[in-house]
Amino acid sequence: MMRSKNSNKHYFTKMGSRKKVHAFVRVRPTDDFAHEMIKYRDDNKTIDIHLKKDSRRGVVNNQQTDWSFKLDRILHDASQDLVYETVAKDVVSQALNGFNGTIMCYGQTGAGKTYTMTGATENYKHRGILPRALQQVFKMIEERPTHAITVRVSYLEIYNESLFDLLSTLPYVGPSVTPMTIVENPQGVFIKGLSVHLTSQEEDAFSLLFEGETNRIIASHTMNKNSSRSHCIFTIYVEARSRTLSDEKYVTSKINLVDLAGSERLGKSRSEGRVLKEATYINKSLSFLEQAIIALGDQKRDHIPFRQCKLTHALKDSLGGNCNMVLVTNIYGEAAQLEETLSSLRFASRMKLVTTEPTVNEKYDAERMVKNLEKELALLKQELAIHDSLANRTLVNYDPMDEIQIAEINSQVRRYLEGTLEEIDIINLRQIQEVFNQFRVVLSQQEQEVESTLRRKYTLIDKNDYAAISAVQKAGLVDADGHLVGEPDGQGFGLGVAPFSTKPGKKSKSKKMFKEQLSSSARKEGASSPLSGKDLDVSTSKTQLTPSSKDGDVKDMVVRDRETSNTEPLASDSPKEELRPPRPSTPPAKPVAFEDFKNERGSEINRIFKENKSILNERRKRASETTQRINAIKREIDMTKEALNLQKSLREKQGEYENKGLMIIDEEEFLLILKLKDLKKQYRTEYQDLRDLRAEIQYCQHLVDQCRHRLLTEFDIWYNESFFVPEDLQMAVKPGGSIRPGMMPLSKIVSLGEDDQDRFSQLQQTTLPEGPDSVSFYNAKVKMEQKHNYLKTMMGLQQAHRK
Ligand code: ADP
Ligand code: MG
Repeated sequence: MMRSKNSNKHYFTKMGSRKKVHAFVRVRPTDDFAHEMIKYRDDNKTIDIHLKKDSRRGVVNNQQTDWSFKLDRILHDASQDLVYETVAKDVVSQALNGFNGTIMCYGQTGAGKTYTMTGATENYKHRGILPRALQQVFKMIEERPTHAITVRVSYLEIYNESLFDLLSTLPYVGPSVTPMTIVENPQGVFIKGLSVHLTSQEEDAFSLLFEGETNRIIASHTMNKNSSRSHCIFTIYVEARSRTLSDEKYVTSKINLVDLAGSERLGKSRSEGRVLKEATYINKSLSFLEQAIIALGDQKRDHIPFRQCKLTHALKDSLGGNCNMVLVTNIYGEAAQLEETLSSLRFASRMKLVTTEPTVNEKYDAERMVKNLEKELALLKQELAIHDSLANRTLVNYDPMDEIQIAEINSQVRRYLEGTLEEIDIINLRQIQEVFNQFRVVLSQQEQEVESTLRRKYTLIDKNDYAAISAVQKAGLVDADGHLVGEPDGQGFGLGVAPFSTKPGKKSKSKKMFKEQLSSSARKEGASSPLSGKDLDVSTSKTQLTPSSKDGDVKDMVVRDRETSNTEPLASDSPKEELRPPRPSTPPAKPVAFEDFKNERGSEINRIFKENKSILNERRKRASETTQRINAIKREIDMTKEALNLQKSLREKQGEYENKGLMIIDEEEFLLILKLKDLKKQYRTEYQDLRDLRAEIQYCQHLVDQCRHRLLTEFDIWYNESFFVPEDLQMAVKPGGSIRPGMMPLSKIVSLGEDDQDRFSQLQQTTLPEGPDSVSFYNAKVKMEQKHNYLKTMMGLQQAHRK
């Protein structure tokens, strides 16, 4: 059973406060009480047991001889009356408030369990808890006229793992055709086939009890069943509803009164046949009971093994958990029975550790609830009608909308979006909600339409799908013949990719717009510096240079590099640049130029890029190794658990699983437990490592992406400066010149005239392939602009010279 509360709609519970199981000891009166060995302390709760060494045969000298048990109360020579007051009264009265309660008698045969539970049926004074509980229930019902309270009872016997209905002999019940089964449903556990009897008065209840008791005795003769070898559960079911109609809540509860089978261990050698079978079943069910109770006492355990035997399964919702629970341990006070007494007291002290959290079983009467809600609804509708008439509104319909009304709203929304409808009148809340709803419908339809139009025209590539992008790039390389326009270079090689990733629809924007876009790309370079198109301060460029790196070195290095290239002659920084042959008449193909760039001005960025990439790969590898290790550890954990379970079940089969309240386990099992603990620790460590690694990978990936972008952007600047910028401007870029490299004023190279724009749109229609991806499209466009601008500037310069 999981501890989680039931989520059934009609089943609610109210939390109570935590409580311990109450454990009492009742000592059977005897003339032969072992005063020497059993002593009670003054608190009337503690019982000390002293065992004389010589009184135990074969006992090793250093074995324990003294024990002390502290329980909730010791009932010595107590009357049935006192026992009831102490043990049962509260539990029963709480049951009428909706708390389940369980009272169990535990102990060896003859110690007085049945006497405590049922009592002597022939003597009223000696009646036990059972008849007294019934009496109390009916008395309380009388005292509570505001509630309609029903009482039902059932009487179940469990013998050798079979279920018997002790009330099946009643004429209207008849013997059940199918064997009884234990069934669980959201409301709890019940026994299918067990007769449950409505009792309207005390007397009826008594006769049911006597009927059951008689059957118990008869069965022990006719079926050769030893009654001390069976568990008997008498259950009182209470259901309390308020008599006022408006209250749909009601509470239910069960009181389980359990007379357990004798707990004595039968010597293996003496038992055979039927007795052995009985002994096995009893030992089993009592030890399962104990296991369930130990599990209940362990707050960290969420699985309680209730289903191991009929006893714990039938009592599943009545043991620990959310009910009031009481244990009466019946003991002999005689010396000869001291072993069993010790064993019983150990059970009691373990039981006392269990905490329960009694909760009210509050339920809702669905029918009553619906009736109440309907009443409320009618009232509110009347109220609305009054409000409408007071506000002079014509009759408004508040009912749910039908399809036609919804379609009308949809059309209103469409007209509103088109602009043919000025506004949508507000009528009521339902209508407003539907308007919003239809907005959503229309919006998603339009989105789909746009997307399918785009898909018909273009192949869309996910910007984050690097594989697809590189495939496109590769495809582009094959075609590249050095012509700028025909060179589809993907998103990577473009200058200022980001600012140009606007939709193709913007192509008709004025040239001013183009300028703005370009200078915004320049601004991107220049980071925070306020740039006019003309003078660009290069010193700002370093602020954007490298992605913030985990090891500051990388960043520093690049910044340093930039700084030196700013202040020192280019020659020292990149000698090749100085030695480079005069500019070719046609610019080299970009892929080729890119290789040059990587060896020259871009070498540092490229190095960092590669470094980051290798770190990323290394982390990925480590993550994959860690994952493999985790899987291996998990497999080993599973195997160890299996082996451990096997050991456990072996140990339990052998029966000798406890001694003086301590589990005895062999070395092998102990080692397995240690191993499991160790493995779990390893697992946690590795798992933490993996999480750290994943975070690191994500971070590295980000760095790599940033570096790549940086590399490509730098390349583009370099490429433009190297092959498209007029030579005289280049001079200005040289050391000592007025402009520093990398920061060519864009206004000098961008000035697209009307003609260029025409040509550009023409080009777009003829030369460019049917846009595989808007990024390369815009990159090409920028290059065209730059080329034209270059020519124009040259012309202007020539003209100026001539004049
Ligand atoms: P159990 O059910 O544990 O096997 P019983 O309740 O049948 O034991 O008790 C065995 C006998 O001892 C019965 O005859 C019962 O009347 C008697 N007995 C047990 N406890 C008491 C007690 N507290 N006072 C008087 N008689 C008792
Ligand atoms: Mg008995």
